[in-house]
Amino acid sequence: MMSLSIMMLFVLHSLSHSDARGIREWTIANGLAALALPLVAARGIIPDWLSIEVSNLLLMGTSALMLAGFRRHAGLGTPWPALGAGTAAGFALVAGFHLVVDSMAIRVVVTSTYHAVLALAMGVTLRRTMASAPRRYPVRFTTWSAFAVAAGMLARAVVYGLRASGVLRLDDSPLTIFFFSIGTLALPMLTLGAVMMTNAGIIARATYAADHDHLTGACSRRAFFALAERERARAQRRRGALSLLLFDVDHFKRINDSYGHATGDRVLAEIVLHTRSVVRAIDVCGRLGGEEFAVLLPDTGEGMAMQAAERLRAALERASRAAPGSAGVPYTVSIGVATLAPGETVAAMLSRADQALYAAKAGGRNTVVAAPSGAERLREASAG
Ligand code: GH3
Ligand code: MG
Ligand code: MG
Repeated sequence: MMSLSIMMLFVLHSLSHSDARGIREWTIANGLAALALPLVAARGIIPDWLSIEVSNLLLMGTSALMLAGFRRHAGLGTPWPALGAGTAAGFALVAGFHLVVDSMAIRVVVTSTYHAVLALAMGVTLRRTMASAPRRYPVRFTTWSAFAVAAGMLARAVVYGLRASGVLRLDDSPLTIFFFSIGTLALPMLTLGAVMMTNAGIIARATYAADHDHLTGACSRRAFFALAERERARAQRRRGALSLLLFDVDHFKRINDSYGHATGDRVLAEIVLHTRSVVRAIDVCGRLGGEEFAVLLPDTGEGMAMQAAERLRAALERASRAAPGSAGVPYTVSIGVATLAPGETVAAMLSRADQALYAAKAGGRNTVVAAPSGAERLREASAG
């Protein structure tokens, strides 16, 4: 078990560079266990106060820090006064049932109860985080490990209680082996769970960062095209409609020049916020680059897309003039609208939307222009 704890220390160390919460507590917990276990093993060789009092204090610290780690991971504080008082009481009982009345069985009852209560607290803490976890499996594994440890420790307390009261004889019983394996596996299981949860969190944060633009929170270009491709396939399979709005801020360079780059950044973030409040929840807003954005409208034909574009254009113009809460800079956008033609690719639809946007700019800006339909475009191409 000591070698398992040391192994877990190496695993935890591999995560020490991450900003994940709880790693430090779990690392110290495994370190304490790695110190305690040789003391337990050397019982009889070293003084009893080392192999009983010190080792049990270290192991209590292990449980307390595992709990503190899970609580921090969940964004919760640890009730240190209560935990400290419980630990002090547990330690006093261990020392009392060694130095005053020497009873190994009662000491096991005390320590098992302590570890059972803390494992239960870990399980309860973990259950509360289940709903917000990026992935269910790691939290579920750890939660049920904690509850299993709590149940095992409680059973151990009961059995040793019966033994202390003389009801049960326990020498060489298979139960001792069972309890030994629970004691051996508890910390590695909980630590493994903590590592899995941390990794799931790291992956979720990295995926979010890759799929979202940092400044505005809109979909990144990559994620937008991935979603657009999925919606195109879906629309063509079901013969449904799909439209795209491509828009660009008018004279954005002037905003940067007159108000500064920071204000320009605020305007971009504001545009995405307002856009999201105007479109439906299933519509996807992406930042394709600089001050150019796109909105993907699933299940939307040309007429509805033109209406949505006009609504968006007007809403942004209005919002930019409503001073409170806004960056206080008036701005407008030009929008090109394209609707997917049968057999068309996303790139072709985007290119038509881009032409329409260009036409909107050329036509004086702050307007919406529909792209020539994909069918017309095909006819033009074959005629020319
Ligand atoms: P037009 O109406 O023709 O679109 O004029 P414009 O000035 O908006 O066009 P242009 O594309 O020439 O200028 C875009 C400017 O947007 C240039 C660039 O400095 C600025 N820009 C691009 N990305 C950012 C950004 O992330 N933050 C800020 N503040 N400015 C940006
Ligand atoms: Mg522009
Ligand atoms: Mg531009």
